[in-house]
Amino acid sequence: MTKQKEEFMREAIRLSIEKMEAGFGGPFGAVVVRNGEIIARGYNNVLATNDPTAHAEVDAIRKACQALGTYQLTDCDLYTSCEPCPMCLGAIYWARPRKVYYANTKADAARIDFDDQFIYEELEKDMSKRSIPMEQLLREEALEGFKAWEIKVNRTQY
Ligand SMILES: [Zn+2]
Repeated sequence: MTKQKEEFMREAIRLSIEKMEAGFGGPFGAVVVRNGEIIARGYNNVLATNDPTAHAEVDAIRKACQALGTYQLTDCDLYTSCEPCPMCLGAIYWARPRKVYYANTKADAARIDFDDQFIYEELEKDMSKRSIPMEQLLREEALEGFKAWEIKVNRTQY
């Protein structure tokens, strides 16, 4: 069992190196596993796609959900070559896999200048003290969308 877990992690690590060397982005890879089988392979694709959200975990989650035809990764495990950043951690909670395995730590990532500590710090701050300003506009109008959702027939609750 442990051997199999290591094989899955090795695949995530292999992707992190192969795709980085091919110029896709930073050295990060991830795989999603279900019933002892890899159902999706993800890797950092930020540079190749000019997409700052194209992290390995998000990529793997998107591909896994597409493969399974669902928005939930129930009964799936995620293997990632590095401890997830706050964005990916959020995506992981939305996707709800059973368990996450990681290899490198966020401290290891910080040492090669992939430092996400500032985002953790921003989350702790009062909104008015964050480095990217946020301003509220048109709440009453926006609430119309929420009211429409509440009364929508046949809505899928998730
Ligand atoms: Zn991330």
